[in-house]
Amino acid sequence: MAPKKSASKEQAAAIERAKLEEPHGYEFGGPIGAALITIGLPIGCYAFAFLCNDVSGCPAPSLLSPSKLFSPPILSNKTPLVHALDTLKAEVGWPGFAGLISVEAALGTFAWYALSLLLYVILPATEVEGVELKSGGKLKYRLNAFLSAVTTLVACAAGTFVRGPDFQVWEFINRNYFQLLTCNILISYGLATFVYIKSFTVKSGNVDKRELAAGGHSGNIIYDWFIGRELNPRVSIPLVGEVDLKSWMELRPGMLGWIMLDLAFIAKQYKSYGYVTDSIRTCLQTILNNAKFVIAVMVTISQAIYVLDALYMEPAILTTIDITTDGFGFMLAFGDLAWLPFTYSLQARYLSVHPVVLGPLYVAAILSVQAAGYWIFRSSNNEKNRFRTNPKDPKIAHLKYMETSAGSRLLTSGWWGTARHINYLGDWLMSWAYCLPTLLAGYKLTDSIMYPGTRLVSTEGMKGAAIPITYFYMLYFAILLIHREMRDEEKCRRKYGKDWEAYCEKVKYRILPYVY
Ligand code: NDP
Repeated sequence: MAPKKSASKEQAAAIERAKLEEPHGYEFGGPIGAALITIGLPIGCYAFAFLCNDVSGCPAPSLLSPSKLFSPPILSNKTPLVHALDTLKAEVGWPGFAGLISVEAALGTFAWYALSLLLYVILPATEVEGVELKSGGKLKYRLNAFLSAVTTLVACAAGTFVRGPDFQVWEFINRNYFQLLTCNILISYGLATFVYIKSFTVKSGNVDKRELAAGGHSGNIIYDWFIGRELNPRVSIPLVGEVDLKSWMELRPGMLGWIMLDLAFIAKQYKSYGYVTDSIRTCLQTILNNAKFVIAVMVTISQAIYVLDALYMEPAILTTIDITTDGFGFMLAFGDLAWLPFTYSLQARYLSVHPVVLGPLYVAAILSVQAAGYWIFRSSNNEKNRFRTNPKDPKIAHLKYMETSAGSRLLTSGWWGTARHINYLGDWLMSWAYCLPTLLAGYKLTDSIMYPGTRLVSTEGMKGAAIPITYFYMLYFAILLIHREMRDEEKCRRKYGKDWEAYCEKVKYRILPYVY
């Protein structure tokens, strides 16, 4: 009987592979959508970075009076558009196109990637296998992202202990913020191009366990470059060995880069507000300043927990859609290296210039949202991971599940019985905790008449104006997760066919039980 059983298992796996290899339609609006995203998102990153600034305000104040912005003075020979652009350039501290990049930032970025690579090589690591490839076999992964991150953060803590907020790394980041953004955008474009060209060396027949992503070889250059042609591109680097580009980029330079940016912003806030440097500060002001400082720290700690959790659970990344299904192209490269660190840290950047005081009740409410989100996110993801890797684990052995003709089982009770992507709900709730501390966001900066050389931060006429910036993450993340859920639903429908219909009958909601 045993051989029969394994034959049917193999048959099921073959059916599953064949279904996943069926031609995919375009996603993200096809080549036009891909082109628009490729151009639009980097511009979006710059727009956030400049329009919420420490020169004039967040957002640049003249954006709030468009009629004035487009009205040049009577004697001026500027057109309304040129006048508006000149005004905005002055308000955002526009450094000119050449000023968007610098040798210092390029060297710093290079050093950051080199350090990540060095820690990847020299620190102890566990070696694990990824999921079965469509073409058969499993790739090996070297995992030590958590240890690398902790090592880096401990070194930075030591530097901060010695130098305080003047620690060179924080100063470097704050001095080169825009230029670092440019370097990471350029790396994303370069990397996407490199892996696209390299993907043409993938040979059919599972040579070196290399294969193309099912949805990544449509034949359209723009689309395939964007979505990722090869599933798991790898490079061999002298003295380093083989590096899996997709998983390495996903968890290392950008993910930790997000927290490094947050920490640099905390240092900036502390430098601006944390010291009692002159006689005009009263004791009460000092206490308030410390409270404000704590809020920025709170946002950073919330985000650091999220990042360190992802790094600690590094093996779990191997079963995510990013690793198992999507190719590696501009979409993931840019998301990992530029979009994630620079837009996810917008709240900490905002608070570094405009500290906010929250009462204990509000702090408790935000922390509760974060805790609830984390609980749903972590326990649901753990539940599925345990079920898939060790179904006999007593923690999940009691859960109900259904068999499928594709071979894999689907949980129908526990977290996965409440909604088909309940883990996304937890993830989204956590995003609230990052945005809510900015309250009715908006500030402007003016020169102090009383204390020449001092800049004053006020919310006068600005309250709520920066909400589209500091709360953007919540909205964007909701869109990302809903879109991701639809893509995964499509993938599962293709893979499980009628079984998926039956599963949807049992688990009716997609993300939010009884609502969606
Ligand atoms: P999921 O972890 O949600 O996995 C989806 C897969 O799980 C499906 O394709 C299917 O795969 C399997 N599955 C579906 N239903 C069941 C079930 N009932 N029982 C068992 N297995 C099931 O996918 P993601 O990779 O999208 O998410 C991983 C985590 O990463 C999430 O928590 C998400 O929120 C987070 N994330 C965070 C992002 C960020 O920017 N912060 C971005 C994207 C994700 P199979 O074919 O094996 O059956």
